[in-house]
Amino acid sequence: MLYVSTRGQAPPAKAASTILQGLAPDGGLYVPEELRQLRYSSIEELGHHSYSEQAVRLLSLYLTDFSPSEVAAAVLAAYNLLKFDTEEIVPLRMLSSDLGVLELWHGPTHAFKDLALTLLPHLMTKAAQKLGLEKEIVILVATSGDTGKAALESFRDVPGTRIIVFFPSEGVSEIQKRQMVTQEGENTLVVAVEGNFDDAQSGVKKLFQDPELRQRLEEAGMTFSSANSINWGRLLPQIVYYFSAYARMLQKRIIRHGESINFVVPTGNFGNILAGFLAREMGLPVHKLILAANANNVLTEFIDTGVYDRRRPFHRTISPSMDILISNNLERLLYWLTDGDAERIRQWMRALQEEGFYQIDARTHQRVREIFWSSWASDEATRAAISDAYSRHRYLLDPHTGVAWEVYQRYREKTGDPTKTVILSTASPFKFAGEVLRALGELVAEGQDEFAWLRLLSERTGWPIPRGLQDLESKPIRHHRRVPQEQMREVVEEFLGLKP
Ligand SMILES: *Cc1c(COP(=O)(O)O)cnc(C)c1O
Repeated sequence: MLYVSTRGQAPPAKAASTILQGLAPDGGLYVPEELRQLRYSSIEELGHHSYSEQAVRLLSLYLTDFSPSEVAAAVLAAYNLLKFDTEEIVPLRMLSSDLGVLELWHGPTHAFKDLALTLLPHLMTKAAQKLGLEKEIVILVATSGDTGKAALESFRDVPGTRIIVFFPSEGVSEIQKRQMVTQEGENTLVVAVEGNFDDAQSGVKKLFQDPELRQRLEEAGMTFSSANSINWGRLLPQIVYYFSAYARMLQKRIIRHGESINFVVPTGNFGNILAGFLAREMGLPVHKLILAANANNVLTEFIDTGVYDRRRPFHRTISPSMDILISNNLERLLYWLTDGDAERIRQWMRALQEEGFYQIDARTHQRVREIFWSSWASDEATRAAISDAYSRHRYLLDPHTGVAWEVYQRYREKTGDPTKTVILSTASPFKFAGEVLRALGELVAEGQDEFAWLRLLSERTGWPIPRGLQDLESKPIRHHRRVPQEQMREVVEEFLGLKP
């Protein structure tokens, strides 16, 4: 299986090469030449296997230049009880007969990005071996909070790699920040960038595209790679849990043979929900993919109107990992929905860059609306949702999942659709303990110690504090840098020893 660029101007590449490169050389995103189809009986069969076995089967369909035992080795190094706090890896909690929550936060950093990022270093180092690449891999990451920590934790002390993470000084939670600045590992660097996530992300893009910097890096025996959700190696592992949830529901007779279900996905960069789209295209019976956004509702508007317009104010919300106005992975969706019309993709992406917006054609918009439904939730509605889920089910939602809860209620009201539905829960409520307590009616003052909130939330609800957050308070802070965007390059050069 080969991979092509969404912009059609890069040579086809093998999986190993796409995973190492991240972005295609023409600025597009890599997509597999064709999507594999699963027969219903194979999907049903998955229900008899462990999560790791499900992952090996599904990943192997696309990683055809890896041997099955190489895929299995990577999967077993990622999805095990050292890294995850439950054997199920992604437990499914049915809150009623027609609503389940898929908990994607049992990994080392307690956010869903662990599902892909625990796997990525193993895929990358294996890919480098295959390509005979002797260079040290330097991972550059811009993070809205969760990616950074998950990437640091998975790449730390992996031989042949270094990792540099930039996070926005404005907009990550105190606990997210503490998780990052206490990061251990000789090959890690964490830096705060003044501004919001888009500032950090565009700064990283500039570093990737700086020919002079690349040249000097090559000379020093290193090469850049990306762990951001534009990397195919990030997207692919996310397909697994959509199949897994469905197969388990079938096996437990929560759904009938052939029945379709909905998924509700709290969305930012459009990576998670895109994996749901892929699963659907591969034959998973998905009725609607419900895209939940916060006040940065550029995607909701896009689904309703066919116009993607980033010319709007940026809002800081209580669901910071969704505070994104440029959803990079949307480009892949457009590629598939236009049947691979790279020229049109190039036009739209140029318009986005130059004018700040683009409008898709009526036919493509029609296809978007057949598959997706979207709404958005304010912070206030999100808090109400957290409170609602807790009082009705004694079930805790983090604010991102709270957005999804609210949007799902609205979906039910507006459409009356009785289809059984799974909400993807993307972070542990303890990562946002202060907000969750506030939503439950506790008086938590601004500036109060977030670690006290962890304990309070646990006492009040009886839910245990997750493993990765327990000892955070006592860990020494190892990363202190804070720079404006213009100084990101300097920091990189210094860490990599590129300056005399
Ligand atoms: C990253 C993240 C999201 C958004 O996922 P995308 O793949 O970027 O759409 C939602 N919730 C949490 C907790 C996240 O960390």
